[in-house]
Amino acid sequence: MQSFFYDRATDPAHALRLGQQAGARFLGGGTNLLDLVKGDVEHPMRLVDLTRIGLDQLSETANGAVRIRALARNSDVANHPLIRQRYPLLSQALLSGASAQLRNMATMGGNLMQRTRCPYFTDTAFDMCNKRMPGSGCGALEGFNRTHAILGASQACIAVNPSDMNVALAALDAVITVSSPHGERAIPIGQFHRLPGDAPQADTVLLPGEMITAIDLPASPFARHASYLKVRDRASYAFALVSVGALLDIGNGVVRGARIALGGVAHKPWRVPAAEAALVGSALSDATAQRAAALLTAGAVGLKDNQFKIALVQRAIVRALRQAEGTV
Ligand code: SF4
Repeated sequence: MQSFFYDRATDPAHALRLGQQAGARFLGGGTNLLDLVKGDVEHPMRLVDLTRIGLDQLSETANGAVRIRALARNSDVANHPLIRQRYPLLSQALLSGASAQLRNMATMGGNLMQRTRCPYFTDTAFDMCNKRMPGSGCGALEGFNRTHAILGASQACIAVNPSDMNVALAALDAVITVSSPHGERAIPIGQFHRLPGDAPQADTVLLPGEMITAIDLPASPFARHASYLKVRDRASYAFALVSVGALLDIGNGVVRGARIALGGVAHKPWRVPAAEAALVGSALSDATAQRAAALLTAGAVGLKDNQFKIALVQRAIVRALRQAEGTV
């Protein structure tokens, strides 16, 4: 492990100043970044500890929206009454991730920044990984790729985003606020994470020195019909093979609105607005859910070991929609 400097920020302005130093990285709960540092995957010159700067509250804002500060812990958010009542999808997704101990440590901002669990990325014994060493090739492309992407991948990288939380945030149209010495900017969650393209080393559009400060959830009509379905190799402590965040707004038996986000299938949470629109205006049925599933997975490409994911996620979409409706 490479040595690094450790700075403890005392307030947000102090953190931003410290974050401008060369090679600095912000540190939240450390549940992912510290593992990668210890494994020689990440080599920050400085870690700026954010855990004493505040920014850990959750509050109602105008028009029924909710603002979650970036240093709020995953377990606190999952169990907060406002989240359980208004955004049960987020609560379900958070509670499906990791272990209770990790959720107690992990922060919301850190979860947004989770890095892929592609073994060629996390194990430095492998010498091909464009995400870890740009230009070295992708070991997974011709290697073991059972857990890898079926949508939005490139020849440079076929990794998936590992976060359950990000799937729920995508379905909920969350907006991420980031700060820098130049001011604040708001980034819709759909634009926060990147597809790999030819630069898979960049998971997000964050610029050097930018710090995540808040996640805003707009008022949602979907609280009554929400389901997060996670399919994995074992019942707990495992990342998703595929996951589905499904939200429905139903009136008089007719779908008035729908949101569907997929996890475990791409480098970022996957949404297809046309699939959601196809559900609107009629009662949910297996046929309409299957139609949405087909639209969501249009263009999916299976590799040597992960072909099964296409049918798996299509069936998971139908089941998640039925669970959200309340019929299964
Ligand atoms: Fe690296 Fe991405 Fe290829 Fe995995 S899939 S080996 S993270 S380049």
